[in-house]
Amino acid sequence: MDVRLITITPEAEALIARCARVSHRSEGRGLESDRKLIRRLIKLGHESVLEHAWATFEVTGISRACANQLTRHRIASFTQESQRYVDVRDRDLVRPPSFAEEDWAKASDLFAQAVGLYEELLSRGIPKEDARFVLPIGAATRLVVTANFREWRHILRLRLEKTAQWEIRELAQQILRILLEHAPSVFEDLRGER
Ligand SMILES: Cc1cc2nc3c(=O)[nH]c(=O)nc-3n(C[C@H](O)[C@H](O)[C@H](O)COP(=O)(O)OP(=O)(O)OC[C@H]3O[C@@H](n4cnc5c(N)ncnc54)[C@H](O)[C@@H]3O)c2cc1C
Repeated sequence: MDVRLITITPEAEALIARCARVSHRSEGRGLESDRKLIRRLIKLGHESVLEHAWATFEVTGISRACANQLTRHRIASFTQESQRYVDVRDRDLVRPPSFAEEDWAKASDLFAQAVGLYEELLSRGIPKEDARFVLPIGAATRLVVTANFREWRHILRLRLEKTAQWEIRELAQQILRILLEHAPSVFEDLRGER
């Protein structure tokens, strides 16, 4: 799995604090006072001001199973590689950590057969949108996801939980690491062992 930040609201904490101060008519006194204010807002549940900041990520090498879970988050925006138009025969199969070597060898074999059949169907003029039916849910995909900081908090809160599936948890951990570099006061309470 590869997670890359494409773009993020510059000086997001300063922007959020500035917006929050409109409602209080107070003056900012630098980054530390902005961060203090943001921590207080989050504690109070006054999270709508977080919607003024956004982040967009490109994610490659997650399974379609993981992508299906991520795209359930309706407030976020997505663009996913289309199996209808893109020839996906060079895509990998994502390996679950629970698969032992023997399981993985069998799965890889089955995947190679599926890709072989996919190629055969294409060569016989079957459209990609139909040939893809033989590919498994573990096949890797690629997508771009954009969300505002309030929605990122929501997604991360749900997907960092131990009850979440390992792959989307790993994705959430990588996204959290990046967001913490840019806006620690917004995301720091989501850090830690779950
Ligand atoms: C551990 C785990 C297990 C899961 N298991 C299943 C499962 O077995 N089957 C399954 O189908 N799904 C499952 N899900 C997915 C889950 O039900 C949600 O679809 C997904 O987490 C998106 O959450 P959300 O709707 O809160 O988020 P978002 O769509 O990101 O929405 C964010 C928030 O906006 C508000 N909102 C958004 N849309 C509406 C709306 N139309 N009306 C009112 N308020 C809205 C809600 O407050 C919502 O919490 C699971 C999720 C997790 C984390």
